[in-house]
Amino acid sequence: MTTSLIAMGVAIFLVINLVVGLAGLSLLIGTFETLFGKPKLTLLRSTQSGNFFAFGFKWNSAKEPARIDNIKLRLFNPFGTPTQVEVKKPFETKTGTFAVEVDMGPGFIELLGAKNLDLAMIQVEVSSTKDGVSFQFDMKGPKFKKLMTDAQMTVEEYQTGNKLNGPTKTMGPPIDIPVRSFIADVVPGKGVQLAIPTNPAFAAQFAGMGGGAAAAGPAKEAVPNFPIAKVWIEPGCIVCNACEDIYKEVFEVLADTCIIRLNAPLDDGLRIQEAAEACPVEVIKYTKAS
Ligand code: SF4
Repeated sequence: MTTSLIAMGVAIFLVINLVVGLAGLSLLIGTFETLFGKPKLTLLRSTQSGNFFAFGFKWNSAKEPARIDNIKLRLFNPFGTPTQVEVKKPFETKTGTFAVEVDMGPGFIELLGAKNLDLAMIQVEVSSTKDGVSFQFDMKGPKFKKLMTDAQMTVEEYQTGNKLNGPTKTMGPPIDIPVRSFIADVVPGKGVQLAIPTNPAFAAQFAGMGGGAAAAGPAKEAVPNFPIAKVWIEPGCIVCNACEDIYKEVFEVLADTCIIRLNAPLDDGLRIQEAAEACPVEVIKYTKAS
C-alpha cells in the first residue's frame, strides 16, 4: 500500500514537472520569437510606373548584422513562357529595417507578364553582397500577383509606420563602374604583354604618372603638390571605401555614404586628387586653393 502511494506520488511529481517544463519551454519559444522574429518582406505600392519594385524589409539586425544592398527576383515557370527570368539590382546599403523602390529594368515587366504565372513560383531574395547574407522568400505566382495588386502602402508610409528616419531611397539607372585593367594586352608583333608602367611598350600610356614609370624610360618630372581650398562629396556614393583607403585622414566612409572628416588636412592636394580619381562614381569634388 505504502509502495503504491509512493509510486503514485512520484508519477504525479513527474507529470507536474513535465507540464511546468513544457509551459516554460513554450514561454521561452514565444520570447525568442518576439526577440528574434523571422525576417519579414512586405511588398509595397510603387509610386513610379514601369519597372519599379517597392518593398520593405525587416529582420533582426542585432542578431544577424548585415549590410543589405541587393534585391533579386527569380521566376520559375516550367509550364509557361518564359520558363525562367532573373532580375537583380543593387541599392544603397541598409543596416536595419528599410523600404526602397528599385528600378528592376525591363526583365521585371517580362516576369510580371509571364504566361501561366498561376503555375509558377517566384523567389524574392534580399541579400548583402558584402557579408554573404541572404534572405529568401518563395511564393506561388498567384500569391505574388495578389501581394503586388493588394499593396497599398508606399515606401514613405512604411518608413513612417516603422519610425525610420531619413529620406526615401530610390535607385536610378545602373551605374557603370569603369574597369581598370593591367592585364595582358596584345602588342603588335610582340604578342601578349602586361600593360604596366615598367613595360617600355606601354611607356607612352603611363607618361606623366610618375611611380614605376621610371623604369620605362627617362625619369619624369615630379608633379608638384598643391593645397586644397575645399573638398566635398556629392550624392551618389556607393560606399566602396576607395577614398578612405587612399586618404583616411580626410575621408570617412559610413554605412551609406562618405563624409569629410572634421579638420581634415587640406595640404596634400595630390592625394585628394588621387582619391577623387579613384572614386568609381566620381562624387568627390574639390577646389584648389588659389
Ligand atoms: S570612393 Fe567615392 S563611392 Fe567610394 S566611398 Fe569614397 S566617395 Fe563613396
